[in-house]
Amino acid sequence: MKKLSVVVPCYNEEATVEAFYNAAVPVFETMREGRYAFEIIFVNDGSRDRTGELLAALAAKDKRVKVLTFSRNFGQQAAILCGFRHCTGDCAVELDVDLQDPVEVVEKMLVKWEEGYDVVHGRRLARKGESVFKKVTAKAYYKFLHGITGIGIPCNTGDFKLLDRRVVDVICALPEHGKYLRGLESWVGFKQTFVDFDRNERVAGETKYTLKKMIRLAQNGIVSNSSWPLTLSFKCGIILGVLSLACFITFIVLVCCGIALPFAAWLFPALALCTSMLCIFNAVSNLYLSKVYEEVKNRPEYIVAEKINFEEDVK
Ligand code: UDP
Ligand code: MG
Repeated sequence: MKKLSVVVPCYNEEATVEAFYNAAVPVFETMREGRYAFEIIFVNDGSRDRTGELLAALAAKDKRVKVLTFSRNFGQQAAILCGFRHCTGDCAVELDVDLQDPVEVVEKMLVKWEEGYDVVHGRRLARKGESVFKKVTAKAYYKFLHGITGIGIPCNTGDFKLLDRRVVDVICALPEHGKYLRGLESWVGFKQTFVDFDRNERVAGETKYTLKKMIRLAQNGIVSNSSWPLTLSFKCGIILGVLSLACFITFIVLVCCGIALPFAAWLFPALALCTSMLCIFNAVSNLYLSKVYEEVKNRPEYIVAEKINFEEDVK
């Protein structure tokens, strides 16, 4: 019997944990005609309300429920990663506890997994219960991220995805800190596909993503996946350099034609040239910085998905 692991991060979710359990368990029990065993791993991300107490009660009555409790609030990404590190299923899915991601969609994801896909992204069509600000900024941000990373981080997806065991293992083995899972789940490659769904409103309670947390996550998404911001200095340097040279040439031509220019006029191209040189020197440092950053992240240079006719010990 194949096993599905469900990883559920929870932060101050006393209003939703029981509703989640009651809604999710019957769905998982009957999914694919009951052909799957499952475990639900709740990761209590340092909740200060009754979440821990409620989770302990669920675990006491149902051995398929497992609970990991953080010493403080480390954030949703850390909670999901911790769940992945402890899961034992043949595949794993992340689900928010507030039932915004419909549990029934997991069955559609399993169908794709059975077809041979390793990563099944949940793609949001409608996003009920989200503010206009969140919708607009999320759309702009993911478009930007998609553009600067070049690894195809898909728009309108979040952490709601199904991952094959081998993808979970690859991600958990990555040594970098502050993992941006949404990016890594695309970066790993393998066979990827989508399942579309309408995102519900929260079943109860308020969002736990403050603006500060959203900005931190967005910033991490950019810094973890792209060195593009480090190349801006070089581009600025070149543009300023070309501008100042064009200005100098124009001024020299004007002087040759007998048009006198005040001394102050020469200050603009001179300043632009100095700034351009500073930008270019900075770009050289950035080049080394991005190299060091890649080394520090220490991601594998490739991931082998399959080997044919090789001895076991050949890497
Ligand atoms: N969450 C978490 N740690 C945090 C913030 C959120 O574990 O620091 C959990 C939260 O309990 C929920 C999921 O992450 O299960 C998504 O959070 P939320 O619903 O607040 O985010 P939104 O859907 O509003 O983006
Ligand atoms: Mg939510």
